[in-house]
Amino acid sequence: MKFHEEISREDLLELYKKQSRRLDKIVARNDLQNKELLELNEQLIKLATLDPMTNIYNRRYLLEVAERYIKTSIREKSDLCVIMLDIDHFKNINDTYGHDVGDKVIIACTEIITANIRDTDVFARFGGEEFVVLFPNTTTQGAFEISDKIRKLIEANILEGNISVTMSTGLTIFKNEGEDIDVLIKQADLGLYHAKEHGRNQVVDYTSLK
Ligand code: GH3
Ligand code: MG
Ligand code: MG
Repeated sequence: MKFHEEISREDLLELYKKQSRRLDKIVARNDLQNKELLELNEQLIKLATLDPMTNIYNRRYLLEVAERYIKTSIREKSDLCVIMLDIDHFKNINDTYGHDVGDKVIIACTEIITANIRDTDVFARFGGEEFVVLFPNTTTQGAFEISDKIRKLIEANILEGNISVTMSTGLTIFKNEGEDIDVLIKQADLGLYHAKEHGRNQVVDYTSLK
């Protein structure tokens, strides 16, 4: 009892302030650690989902989210389209201007595509110069219009020397007949194959082929 009485109000206040400063330091250190952890986590997510050269999604991420988009399309009875795009005669660009220019062409194509799709669409690099886009809530006509607009923009805007860059695209719509993403991509790829066989620089709807 006596011991307590000997501590003055001022001493107590000083003690309190000191403890409070110590606590602030601990909290600040924890905040910093939490921030670092959050940043690290963000970097890991980016590494796992993005293609480093183009900064768009990678194949793995697209395949992973596609099943979710298919389920939503079934549940909400909403349209879901899938396109596959491929740069025409890309080997010529590499052979004529070199791999670095080839890389720049790939990046320029992805920038045009990104600028012309919605935030809710999923755009991924599927292979070297091959891309896939998922278009939720989009009809065949809608997806065709966006794809053809992109095709025209690429034809008009990307030139390497006197070689103009063009892309071919295959398109399909989910019909809710048991298709999974692999089937949809195969269908889009058949449309793409048809586009390549018929002169390139065009969009072909797989469902119109039969
Ligand atoms: P097609 O019109 O039929 O699509 O012909 P193509 O020449 O575009 O197709 P092909 O599949 O013969 O060639 C694709 C080339 O793309 C081959 C490969 O070396 C190159 N490639 C793949 N990934 C990259 C990349 O990241 N950068 C560059 N510069 N080239 C790449
Ligand atoms: Mg190609
Ligand atoms: Mg290809």
